[in-house]
Formats: sequence, structure tokens, C-alpha cells
Amino acid sequence: MVTIAVSSESADEPRVAVSPDTVKKFTGLGAKVRVESGAGLRSRFSDDAYRAAGAEVVSRADALAGADILLKVRRPSVEDVSALKPGAIVAGMIDPFGERAALEALAATGATVFSMEFMPRTTRAQSMDVLSSQANLAGYKAVVDGAAMFGQALPMMMTPAGTVPAAKAFIMGVGVAGLQAIATARRLGAQVTATDVRPATKEQVQSLGAKFIAVEDDEFKQAQTAAGYAKPMSAEYQAKQAELIAQHIKTQDIVITTALIPGRPAPKLISRAMIEGMKPGAVIVDLAAERGGNSELTEPGKTVETANGVKIYAPLNLAGTIAVNASSLYAKNLLAFLETMIDKKEKTLAVNWDDELIKGTLIAKDGKLVHPNLQAKRS
Ligand code: NAD
Repeated sequence: MVTIAVSSESADEPRVAVSPDTVKKFTGLGAKVRVESGAGLRSRFSDDAYRAAGAEVVSRADALAGADILLKVRRPSVEDVSALKPGAIVAGMIDPFGERAALEALAATGATVFSMEFMPRTTRAQSMDVLSSQANLAGYKAVVDGAAMFGQALPMMMTPAGTVPAAKAFIMGVGVAGLQAIATARRLGAQVTATDVRPATKEQVQSLGAKFIAVEDDEFKQAQTAAGYAKPMSAEYQAKQAELIAQHIKTQDIVITTALIPGRPAPKLISRAMIEGMKPGAVIVDLAAERGGNSELTEPGKTVETANGVKIYAPLNLAGTIAVNASSLYAKNLLAFLETMIDKKEKTLAVNWDDELIKGTLIAKDGKLVHPNLQAKRS
């Protein structure tokens, strides 16, 4: 029988790696699930709900001791991983480009570590795509929080007492988070514009009823990599883009920034001078804060208010602020991934090392970091 351990996350991470719903599915697959008492409380999953779904609710030490698999939201501690069975499977958002020494220490435990952020963006892996499930919620929440901070109505309202103008929302970076931000801002009645460097996003923006603005030169036409991500843009392109943004942003009320390039610091798209040119009361929600932010004045984890009355909100874990939804979706992503490595008949672990999803996400095995994206950065 496969034993799955789930421990509480740290104080700044409200999400949890299993839901009562996925516990039920895991037990249906013949696995035993041991959840640390209280692990789900911040996602409103009680110990009783886990028990009713078939989990054993125990102490942290008892959850971890000798388990075959540890499911986490964030990178686990070496201490916790060392309590598992030697070579046990660990799956979570390991932050593979984060603190390198700690990553090497995690690998040195001998655990078989899967980093869910590396899940290939293929059709088959869609149900396991944690970046998408969490970015989608973050894009939604960015608009809701931005609207609350803006403190004015978003839709145009024509009333006998006069007309309230529609607020203007500008979404920078149209990946999963950006698309949901556009849709949410539209639903709330804002007048929405959006920008990206990948040409494929133009049609997506327009299909959501928003206006696309970008520097559409030859470099823009080639800005998407084979993997579907943006390339870092040249200094020349950045200068042209900055000019366009500087003009546009002056008139905007809510700006949501989501621009990222995998494995790199977030591109700085909004300068101090641009912010100084914005309207008092305008709000920037910087979803790229975890990677340094898309604005020059972003302070990750904080809200800054400038002398001209512009607020720059830079949350580090926006999906975590709607932990019930975020945990439910994240837990389903993990379940879908784990289903590929549990033999349903024999009720044993059966990892297919040749599977592209396994190869794509496996970062550590037999004491070493094994992922190709992590080799060049050896310290
Ligand atoms: P992301 O979080 O890596 O980046 C967000 C957006 O920022 C991207 O659209 C990117 O083009 C944009 N960006 C980067 N640099 C920029 C700059 N200088 N100026 C303006 N915009 C900039 O993106 P994501 O949400 O992870 O999506 C990445 C890709 O993966 C997309 O092509 C998406 O369609 C694709 N995807 C595919 C699947 C699937 O097929 N299963 C699932 C999810 C996403």
C-alpha cells in the first residue's frame, strides 16, 4: 500500500496540498493518506472533513514517518523529507530557481523530488498545471483587490443624478493570470486594454472584448519561444514599448501587471517616471512581485503609496488569499499527477521514468539535482 503524507505549510502559506475530495480519490486508488492535524484549517478543510474522506489525521511526525510520498504546496524542509522512507517521492511547488543551497540540500536527502512548476504545458498535462490553476485565481483576485483599493465604481452608470464614467483597467502580460484579469475587469464593467509581446495574445485579448496595444514590429512577430513563452526583448524594443506605455498609463485607473519570463527576473515595464505621470488614486497590482516586480517602485509583499497618490500593491501569494479555491484546484492538480504513478490494480508505486511529464518535472533523484534546467547553475 502506498502511504501519502501531508504536512502543514509555513505561517505565510495558507494553502494545503490535499482536499477532502482528493483524499477520497487517493483512498479509492488504494493509498493511505496521513494528514497532519490542522493542515487544512486555513483552507477551511477541517480534520473531521479529512477523516470523513478516509484520511488518518495525526501529528506531523506520525504523518511523515516512513511515508512513500510527501505532498506539499511549498518546498519542504530537509528535516521533514528526512523523516520519509529513503528515496520517497516529494511533489510540490519547489521553487526550482529559488534558494540554490537549500535546493541542493533537499536533493542530498536522496528524495525523488518533482517540481510542479516544471509541468510541461501540453494538452495531456492541463489537469496537472499548477501554474495555470493558481495564476487564474491570482488574475481574478488582482482585479477584485485592485478595484477595492481604487475605491471608485468600475462600470459606467447612467443615473438620473448623473453619469459615473467607466474605470479604465490596463493588463500588462496576457498569460493565464492576465487573461483572467481581463475577463474579471470586463465583468466588473471596466474599459479594458491589454498588452503583451507575444503576437498570439492579440486575438485572445480581442476575443475577451478588450483592446490590444503593443509595439507590433518585426521583433514582436518573433517574440514567442517554441515552448509558448515570451523571449527577453532587446533594449531597442524596450525603449519603444516604454514610450507607448508611458503615454497609455497616464489615463489608467487600475493596472494589473503579470509579465514574466521563466527563470529570469520580471521585466521592468513601468518606470518611476511613468508612475509619477499617473492619475492620483490609480492602483497598480503587481503580480510579478515574487520575481522582483514589473514596476520600478514595487516592494514585494508591500503596498507603496507615492507622493502623487498612486498605490502599488505587490502581493506575494494572491492565490493563497482565496485558499479554499486555490487549495481545491492545486490538490486536484497533484491528484492528476500522482494518478500517473500509482498502479491501480497492484496498489503500488509504478513510476514510468520515460513519461514526458515525469521527465519534465523530476528535479532530484538519488541524491543529485537531475533536471537539465538546473545543471548550468551549479554553484
Ligand atoms: P507567464 O506567467 O510566464 O508570463 C505572463 C505573460 O507575460 C506572458 O503572456 C508573456 O508573454 C508576458 N510577457 C513577458 N515579457 C513581457 C514583456 N516584456 N512585455 C509584455 N508582456 C510580457 O505566462 P503563462 O501564463 O505561464 O503562459 C505562458 C504560455 O504558456 C502561454 O503561451 C500560454 O498560452 C501557455 N499555456 C499553455 C497551456 C497548455 O497548453 N496546457 C497551459 C497554460 C499556459
